[in-house]
Amino acid sequence: MYLKSLELHGFKSFPEKTVLNFGAGATVIVGPNGSGKSNITDAMRWVLGELSTKNIRGSKMEDVIFSGSGKRRALGVAEVTVEFDNSDHTLPLDFDNVSLTRRLFRSGDSEYAINKKSCRLKDIIDLMA
Ligand code: ATP
Repeated sequence: MYLKSLELHGFKSFPEKTVLNFGAGATVIVGPNGSGKSNITDAMRWVLGELSTKNIRGSKMEDVIFSGSGKRRALGVAEVTVEFDNSDHTLPLDFDNVSLTRRLFRSGDSEYAINKKSCRLKDIIDLMA
């Protein structure tokens, strides 16, 4: 199993849909101070089911939603999707590619999906355990 891609949309400093494709051999993310490197690792923790706001450097869960900038209005929803190559079937699912999605609305509502099919947070946590 290996990490294929991470997609962020409305998560912290990523208001636009941003897709990071991790080719074989990628081991680091580099960028200037404040460019969002740690936000990427926060997104990874979050999509895998993190419930502690402290662990993703926030004080409340809503802090993961893009809160606006000088040029852009705040958004109402944050969404992150991670995709794994599961051709070795490390994850006990009959799929060669497995994606996990987490979405949070400013209203507080959350949605989770495995391969775009709606599921519970517990299903994601159990799968990754
Ligand atoms: P450093 O190298 O200094 O650790 P970094 O590249 O890891 O920086 P991050 O800490 O990931 O950068 O990103 C910090 C930026 O993300 C700050 O400009 C902060 O304002 C912005 N940011 C964090 N949360 C949000 C949010 N909810 N909405 C908009 N911007 C946000």
